[in-house]
Amino acid sequence: MTDWLALAKSQETELFDLIEKLVMIETPTSDKAANDRISGITAELLASIGGEVTVHPEKKYGDHITANWTGKNRDSGTPHALVIGHLDTVWPIGTLERMGYYEKDGRMYGPGVLDMKAGIATTIVGLRTLQSQDLWPDRPVRVLFNTDEEVGSPSSRPLVESSAQGAAFALVMEPGQAGAGALKTQRKGLAEFRLVVEGKASHAGAFPERGASAIHELAQKIVELQAMNDWPDGITVSTGLISGGSARNTIPAHAEATIDVRARTNEQAEKIEAQIRALKPAVEGTSLTIEGGFHRPPMERTPELAKLAASLIEWSHEIGFELTEESTGGGSDANLTAAMGVPSADGLGSKGLNPHAEGENIEISEQPNRLALFMKAIHSL
Ligand SMILES: [Zn+2]
Repeated sequence: MTDWLALAKSQETELFDLIEKLVMIETPTSDKAANDRISGITAELLASIGGEVTVHPEKKYGDHITANWTGKNRDSGTPHALVIGHLDTVWPIGTLERMGYYEKDGRMYGPGVLDMKAGIATTIVGLRTLQSQDLWPDRPVRVLFNTDEEVGSPSSRPLVESSAQGAAFALVMEPGQAGAGALKTQRKGLAEFRLVVEGKASHAGAFPERGASAIHELAQKIVELQAMNDWPDGITVSTGLISGGSARNTIPAHAEATIDVRARTNEQAEKIEAQIRALKPAVEGTSLTIEGGFHRPPMERTPELAKLAASLIEWSHEIGFELTEESTGGGSDANLTAAMGVPSADGLGSKGLNPHAEGENIEISEQPNRLALFMKAIHSL
């Protein structure tokens, strides 16, 4: 029987060398050149372990990459394993110089180390090790690294979905829930709506009756939106941005708002979206345009997803650590794969603190555990 932890520990130097190499390349989502560089480097690494790599060119974001391997049993026709990670981070260029990459009290600190350069390195080192040890699975393996996850995967969404088509399962190598490093087995769906109100300008003192106030109309809509909240049931609706008007003494002809909406289930998401789209103007002379929708469908804890999580948790105990599961309000590419009915495990990549925040770090002693579990999962699921 394979001692997965011993195998992972034998790769510890390579693993941390690669994490460092990836952290050293700063990759804010908006910087295409930086993301192209890192996707080029990871593409080469995946190709060096036999992956058939495809570069998916992008205009605005960095190029996304996919890599495919056949299963050990080539004729099996079994559904493939899908592994997903993102190469971009939320940190602007120059953060590394300010924050540094360093070890302290058993943790590695650096921008993007937790979210999610450690998960990318674990994927690459894990697959390389499975191959060199003749532990490759019978099923085909597909890896997708994208470069726009931190802004909601606007350009890679079709690629995420086509890669998930027919997959047996998806392992999303995002960090575990901060703190315990738990698997995220339930994620809220996330929508952004934009309400634009057009009215009619007029002098506020001399001819108020000739105007139609877009701000008056928008204010009423904001109150109606607020009433759609159902926090106990997991529906949140928040008007996060408003703007409008042109001068104090002019009836405003234009006003708009951006709304953040989250829902726990697909049923809730459909219901709340229909409610928002059904909003009608109440102030005479104004018109209302509603744009947007759910760009991350809810990830529900289906029986298949729960079963996948249960296997991973059981194996974590065999390996010698304690993986748990939690729900979260945030979204990731796991929302997309789960919505297609592919059992998805999210939060496998690393354990640490402060994602997207000062002091972002990973726990050093946990990383071999994560590598061991990743290899066991790819080998055995
Ligand atoms: Zn992430």
